[in-house]
Amino acid sequence: MIVIENKTLYKCEHCRKKYEVKSACEKHERICSKNPAYLKPCHSCTNCKKVKTYVPSGYSDFYGNESEREVDILFCDKISTYVHSPKVAAKGNAFVPGDFSNVVFPDTCEFYTSNGTAELLAKQNY
Ligand SMILES: [Zn+2]
Repeated sequence: MIVIENKTLYKCEHCRKKYEVKSACEKHERICSKNPAYLKPCHSCTNCKKVKTYVPSGYSDFYGNESEREVDILFCDKISTYVHSPKVAAKGNAFVPGDFSNVVFPDTCEFYTSNGTAELLAKQNY
């Protein structure tokens, strides 16, 4: 076993994650779900609903046709668009369905209707 002493570690200000690389910690803090600045209206909005859609699977079937797979995705009824969190955007793995576009959660939204989650978190001093 190798014991490493006096090594600089970087800790997220919002959760308990530790990093050896400063840039990795900074990158995490931007998308840390415990970061108050990370929370967007869509996180606690009744218009944001989980639906099922189909995206290209990246594989071809026996006949050479590209197959599709069913995925869960968030859809906003008010703006008729798929939406995804900043975390998904940072990882670059948002789905690209054919029927509607898929955009990252906006910072503000005129159609925001609280589902009570934000108030509950505030009450718990989360
Ligand atoms: Zn964190």
